[in-house]
Amino acid sequence: SDAASVPALVIGTGYGGCVTALRLAQAGVDVHMIEMGMAWDTPGADGKIFANTTTPDQRSFWLRTRTKQPLSNFLGFPLDKDIPRYTGILDAEEFSGITVYQGRGVGGGSLVNGGMAVTPRREYFGEVLPTVNPDEMFGTYYPRANAELGVSVIDPAWFDSTACYQYARVGRKHAQRSNFPFVYVPNVYDWNYMKQEAAGTVPKSALAGEILYGNNHGKKSLQKTYLPKIAATGRVTISPLHRVTSVVPASGGGYTVTMEQLNTTGGVVTTKAVTAARVFFAAGSVGTSKLLVKLKATGALPNLNNEIGKGWGDNGNVMCGRANHMWDATGALQSSMPTAGIDNWAAGGAFAEVAPLPTGIETYASFYLSITKTSQRAEFSWNAGAGRVDLSWQTAWKQTSINAAKTIFDKINAKEGTIYRTDLFGIYKIWGDHLTYHPLGGAILNKATDNYGRLHGYPGLYVMDGALIPGNTTVNPFVTITALAERNIEKIIATDL
Ligand code: FAD
Repeated sequence: SDAASVPALVIGTGYGGCVTALRLAQAGVDVHMIEMGMAWDTPGADGKIFANTTTPDQRSFWLRTRTKQPLSNFLGFPLDKDIPRYTGILDAEEFSGITVYQGRGVGGGSLVNGGMAVTPRREYFGEVLPTVNPDEMFGTYYPRANAELGVSVIDPAWFDSTACYQYARVGRKHAQRSNFPFVYVPNVYDWNYMKQEAAGTVPKSALAGEILYGNNHGKKSLQKTYLPKIAATGRVTISPLHRVTSVVPASGGGYTVTMEQLNTTGGVVTTKAVTAARVFFAAGSVGTSKLLVKLKATGALPNLNNEIGKGWGDNGNVMCGRANHMWDATGALQSSMPTAGIDNWAAGGAFAEVAPLPTGIETYASFYLSITKTSQRAEFSWNAGAGRVDLSWQTAWKQTSINAAKTIFDKINAKEGTIYRTDLFGIYKIWGDHLTYHPLGGAILNKATDNYGRLHGYPGLYVMDGALIPGNTTVNPFVTITALAERNIEKIIATDL
């Protein structure tokens, strides 16, 4: 009815969306941000905004009645449990061959992720974004992204002495004994806060195992970096619990954006329309791809090109655990923020993070999330009969990633005389090959869009998020997503406005 009109509308409030909104607002443009998840600014009954990883409740999952934890089993026991259906923070979105984990709420994936903030090595950048000038990225946009996100490396002396990184020191020892390069993994966690957690002088967050369902303290999510700067401009309105369903050209120019306002059990309260001169898709790789594929196939945006929905990858994510000897205890206290990695990219196509298993008890387990080099790519397509978007991924495609991860862990197991854990992902299952945390692609830069994210066929429509990146970043992706958005929006502001 009363189709409000705005100069710029941004779909999604993750990294791509926040960079876009901040830079537009700073250039004097009023912006409306639409976010399907909640604001995450109000404490629950326990006085905390976010639930603990070990005690999931309704806040933990997006519209599920049972948890779907990435580690489904422990010592043979299934871990999942029933919870009330709620617009919770972590979406375990199931496609036929893969579960894609994503953050839901103002701040997107920054609310739930491990904070690992890694810039790819320059020599591999050509594999990551082949059409982007590396001099610009490494000279300007990666430094800008790292500064805005508050990235830093742990104090090595503290790493060497604190109980909460014993698991990572065991990981380092085993990597080095097998002659693999060990690297510190930069993070956005506030290390001074973590030191105070260890000293017992502040409420615990990383040292209480908080990660997957949000961090109550210490992690510099977008709620502590871009979002306060966005608020300070006074030019940005954010609508949480609003899900965009359609974008169509408006008769008088610009685009009509249709959205559903949701209640906290996922019901539709009302439907609204906003007209915007420019629309920026920043709903994440999956969210943006699903919208564009549907809009092209159903005739809302028929002139989008045939690259829409293509080139999707899982960043080669695969998980595994190793069972250590009794003299290699990994510690009952484990910081939930990973800060160590094994770099075997050049020789084996794998970069493995030494990940925590914050169970609160000694497990003698080493746990790893590997990012691997894989050319497997899937495609999103519109399933008209079911009225949904499908993804063509096959679980068997993870074998490439398992083989790459084995170049590290078979060697470490042989050297240490140890074996893989078989109790973490089901019964007698070594590899966590059922998921990704790093969806990338679906609207690839310089294919579905031009080399700055402008969608072909529709002036004023842009893609600004992980959908632009062709499937693999050699490391964790959010620094690259942020840096690419900084590069693209600078060009768009300079030439399109
Ligand atoms: P997102 O951050 O996903 O933001 C998209 C937003 O759009 C979401 O808030 C979503 O709710 C919203 N949205 C979607 N569809 C609609 C719609 N139709 N209408 C309105 N809103 C919509 N990366 C790293 O670099 N380091 C890590 O340590 C790391 N750990 C991770 C751990 C977990 C558990 C997960 C899930 C991810 C992790 N990642 C990590 C990945 C990282 O968080 C993502 O790559 C990043 O958040 C993607 O940014 P984005 O801007 O593309 O989209």
